[in-house]
Amino acid sequence: MNLNLKDKVYLISGGAKGIGEAISRILAEEGAIPVLIDPSLEEGKKIIKDIEDNGGKAAQYAHRLSQTKDAQNAVEFVIEKFGRIDGVVNNAGANDSVGLEKGSPESFRSSVEKNLGHYYDLVHFALPYLKNSRGAIVNISSKTAITGQGNTSGYTAAKGAQLSLTREWAVELLPYGIRVNAVIPAEVMTPLYKTWLDTFENPNEKRSEIEKRIPLENRMTKPQEIADMVVFLLSPRSSHTTGQLIFVDGGYTHLDRAIGT
Ligand code: NAP
Repeated sequence: MNLNLKDKVYLISGGAKGIGEAISRILAEEGAIPVLIDPSLEEGKKIIKDIEDNGGKAAQYAHRLSQTKDAQNAVEFVIEKFGRIDGVVNNAGANDSVGLEKGSPESFRSSVEKNLGHYYDLVHFALPYLKNSRGAIVNISSKTAITGQGNTSGYTAAKGAQLSLTREWAVELLPYGIRVNAVIPAEVMTPLYKTWLDTFENPNEKRSEIEKRIPLENRMTKPQEIADMVVFLLSPRSSHTTGQLIFVDGGYTHLDRAIGT
């Protein structure tokens, strides 16, 4: 299938590691130009070098999205460099364990802002260019928005809001032909996930306990498997798909809990 992405320009927040890295690399494999918004300079450089060595193009805006101005600057950077935006992937985020009992009103607000604010900001500033290109938006959420996890009120509130914004923006942007979808991972081995796993006394044991409960092939989802779905949703080959919340999780969130017991 030709995804018709040649020379199209995509912004990926958190595009230098984990799921974002896979999205950046697969977009480039399809001939698109990924722009990584990610403070991890060394990781970003390596990805861009690999893409350029294969004859592709890519760039990095090496900053963390913290203030509204950061998203505006990222959009200005990409327009100055490539003159267009065909899509935005809102992906950067971190499960930061701000709970109800073990948390505070201040840390809750800060966690929501950290995980949600830049999802709005990036699309807000990219919108004039997305209107020109009839672009596409993909929000990366988390299964915790649906299942809860415990001790992570700020993160789950932000992840739930990302699903609501997916539907809300899909409606608001209908007149411009801009499609908006969400991809929902559950268990994906990334640097972030590894850091979380390492908080357990026996990370290997914890990993196999989790894998046993993943219905399809009893294994974690690969970052590339999330990225393949994201890239398809960005492409005109998904031209009549909008407002959808798509779980790429080997059946973890929805299939019968009795499986494997
Ligand atoms: P990851 O391994 O930490 O990679 C994320 C990248 O984003 C890192 O390079 C990180 O930089 C960067 N980043 C974080 N905040 C940023 C910001 N405000 N501005 C720019 N860059 C930022 O994470 P991941 O596991 O790939 O997760 C990606 C997304 O998937 C997140 O939204 C996460 O909630 C979601 N998700 C992941 C899983 C999973 O199993 N891995 C499950 C459900 C949902 P630093 O490392 O310097 O912070």
